[in-house]
Amino acid sequence: MKYMVYMEFAMNTKIVKIDETNESALREAGQVLQQGGLVAFPTETVYGLGGDALNKESSRKIYAAKGRPSDNPLIVHIADMEALVPIVKEVTPEAERIAQSFWPGPLTMILPKSDKVPYETTGGLDTVAVRMPSHPVARKLIEYGGGYVAAPSANTSGKPSPTVAKYVIEDMDGRVDMILDGGEVGIGLESTIIDLTVTPPQILRPGYVTLDMLEEILEHVDVDKTILSNESGLAPKAPGMKYRHYAPSGELTIVDGETKQVVAYINQETEKQQVSGQKVGVIGSLETKDLYGADVVKNIGSRLDEEAIARNLYRILREFDDEKVEVIFSESFSGTGMGQAIMNRLLKAAGHKVIHLENKKMEE
Ligand code: AMP
Ligand code: MG
Repeated sequence: MKYMVYMEFAMNTKIVKIDETNESALREAGQVLQQGGLVAFPTETVYGLGGDALNKESSRKIYAAKGRPSDNPLIVHIADMEALVPIVKEVTPEAERIAQSFWPGPLTMILPKSDKVPYETTGGLDTVAVRMPSHPVARKLIEYGGGYVAAPSANTSGKPSPTVAKYVIEDMDGRVDMILDGGEVGIGLESTIIDLTVTPPQILRPGYVTLDMLEEILEHVDVDKTILSNESGLAPKAPGMKYRHYAPSGELTIVDGETKQVVAYINQETEKQQVSGQKVGVIGSLETKDLYGADVVKNIGSRLDEEAIARNLYRILREFDDEKVEVIFSESFSGTGMGQAIMNRLLKAAGHKVIHLENKKMEE
């Protein structure tokens, strides 16, 4: 039942600056959801594009507004634990434990769905992905919107997820009924997804909640092998992870190696690209930003501060688009802990284009 819907959009989008004390705007947005409309809103991970998860027409509208393939399921957002019961076959002891430890927060669990959840929302699957966000605006919106909000990231399919409202407006103005601008989000990467329908449970998408944190609660947890590798023949278990994602318009290459060598290599390649007339951007760190000669140099934060790197990554990828950067080089970051989520997104944004310097002799 995979289909793509392309249509002309010319809606009058209401854009409201908001925090959780703005009751009237939150109630209005809740009404929009209950009437089958779409509302973009802040969560602690990234901005979401919300519709009533139990209304198949709303889910269809979400796919259309994003240009998202309809076999890529949506995450259902809830505001309290009681809301979980009616939409799943069973709340397993594992689900209870995970919810107790990580909800509300950046953790999505996959469970067998009940008949209440339309296949339009789950991309045709018999399972449903559920998350309880912690952002106070998201929580009130879910409550006022009827309790079940299907929400993928509020970007055009394939682009980096928005972490500030500016990029939600860029992608969704005219395509949704309302955009709630709650400022910059806190985490900046999408939720960790754990599949509880398999034994042992398996991480399908890394995020702020790490493997180590999950193994403290669930003894043994597997990780989908496709998360950091690009081996052909391996299909990711989360349908959405097979699509090109998070990509800036410029061509992005990751350069991995010892920092001094990485800086030298990037500067050498920058010069070559500039000679051929290309505008070059670099994702550097607090420690290295002053060492680069590219046209646009971004400081993603200290190499020691993974939370800053996560928070800044998508915004920086978007800014390269704003500044019409054609060729981008990025430093590589540690792939353990939360770094696994960072590298997973960066590798996808780069289409897995990585230069490993220890295997490559620098040119003279
Ligand atoms: P996004 O909405 O952009 O955060 O993406 C949601 C991610 O969750 C996509 O990669 C989906 O493929 C994945 N997902 C949602 N529901 C399921 C499910 N029932 N089984 C496996 N993956 C899912
Ligand atoms: Mg997304």
